[in-house]
Amino acid sequence: MRPRWAIVAGRAPPQRPELSFTDRRGAGSTGRHPGRLTPLIVRKDPMSRIVQKYGGSSVADAESIKRVARKIARAKQRGDAVTVVISAMGDTTDELMDLAYQVSPQPQTRELDMLLTTGERQSAALLAMALNDLGVKARSYTGSQAGVITTERHGDARIVTITPGRIEKSLAQGNVTIVAGFQGVSQDTKDVTTLGRGASDTTAIALAAVLGAKYCEIYTDVDGVFTADPRIVPTAKRIPEITYEEMMEMAAAGTKVLHLRAVEYARREGIAVHVRSSFSDNPGTWVKGHADIAKGNQMEEAMITGIASDASEAKITVVGVPDEVGRAARTFDVMAAAEINIDMIVQNVSAVSTGRTDISFTLPMSDGQRAVQALNAVKDEIGFEELLYDDQIGKVSVIGIGMRTHPGVTAAFFDALAANDINIDMISTSEIRISVIVEAPKLATAVQAAHTTFGLDTNGEAVVYAGTGR
Ligand code: ASP
Ligand code: MG
Repeated sequence: MRPRWAIVAGRAPPQRPELSFTDRRGAGSTGRHPGRLTPLIVRKDPMSRIVQKYGGSSVADAESIKRVARKIARAKQRGDAVTVVISAMGDTTDELMDLAYQVSPQPQTRELDMLLTTGERQSAALLAMALNDLGVKARSYTGSQAGVITTERHGDARIVTITPGRIEKSLAQGNVTIVAGFQGVSQDTKDVTTLGRGASDTTAIALAAVLGAKYCEIYTDVDGVFTADPRIVPTAKRIPEITYEEMMEMAAAGTKVLHLRAVEYARREGIAVHVRSSFSDNPGTWVKGHADIAKGNQMEEAMITGIASDASEAKITVVGVPDEVGRAARTFDVMAAAEINIDMIVQNVSAVSTGRTDISFTLPMSDGQRAVQALNAVKDEIGFEELLYDDQIGKVSVIGIGMRTHPGVTAAFFDALAANDINIDMISTSEIRISVIVEAPKLATAVQAAHTTFGLDTNGEAVVYAGTGR
């Protein structure tokens, strides 16, 4: 074949072919010149989009960032359009928080958000650098640049909408598109906001929904969701698949592997979520499917799916509340005004002689002091006698769709606690969950006892690859 650029008999090469050649190739294979065109690979299915999220313990140091970059590069090589949501390195968010409180006893929430968002900005930029070094085009974006529009509530903002213009453009340019997790910008104030601790998961699911991703992968430091926290129960086993409803109960009951709002969002948008380890290639846990309360199939359901535990709550007892209409309402109005989330509530029968009762409730330990102050400020108005505060408590929850069709779960659970000499302080239930409050030092024993009672122990040991579990 004659080389196309050969100068024949001193004449310049014809002007004609060059431009039209490239043009046609650029326009894709039209089939009009099949012999001459390098066939452009036109995928029958358009490139599928995936969203991956990497947690802080997966990017704790420079080496880990390079390791994660290699993992992302492999996903990109498989031909997917990849969007990555990243958490701050290791315990950076906690460290920044500590730093803030060393500088000021009560940092303004706006400034706290300015500070905390830098953690994710740092890891996003570093990850982009590592990917570019591997020859994979990558660009990082802050939440605000990525179009994550939120409410203005600093430290606990909600995503209002995502305008993914820049993300779409970056993906169209073939970039791995990295978004700093757990942050956005307020629609009204234009200030930078954060979405609450652990909310990078929520950023990832929201992006997956907006981008129409096939699924969302949440990479963490354990091989998925376990039947109990493997740091407490070494014989816990991986749950291969769990319904949205059970996962919501697990997350609400203290299982930190997935952020509660992320699960709610995934359920609403029907996004399949694969929770897995960034330290292995093992399959993890798929969160998908519904509990389908009406059609529950008791033959196939395990009675109990998992045991959740939570050591982050405290208990307040309002002693001697006059047993009159409106007193409880007023108590919880005060908590609502202080924007404190209440979990369990117990009200005792009032003593006939005094006409007074005690109301106990649990709340996040981090809100404990604020709650006590807010209630003491209305002590005379509500007319209670005193407040008791206890943060030496732990919550154990038994969760499973199967319990709807198996009577006796409560009895078996309480028997296991009694056999271990563990007193039950408070109880609450849902259709697929039973939770109890026990003394903090007995929490681990209680979780282990429930795990064994419901036949969840396995022979192998669960692997915890990294992280401090903070
Ligand atoms: N870095 C934030 C936190 O530690 C957000 C996240 O990791 O999801 O809470
Ligand atoms: Mg997390």
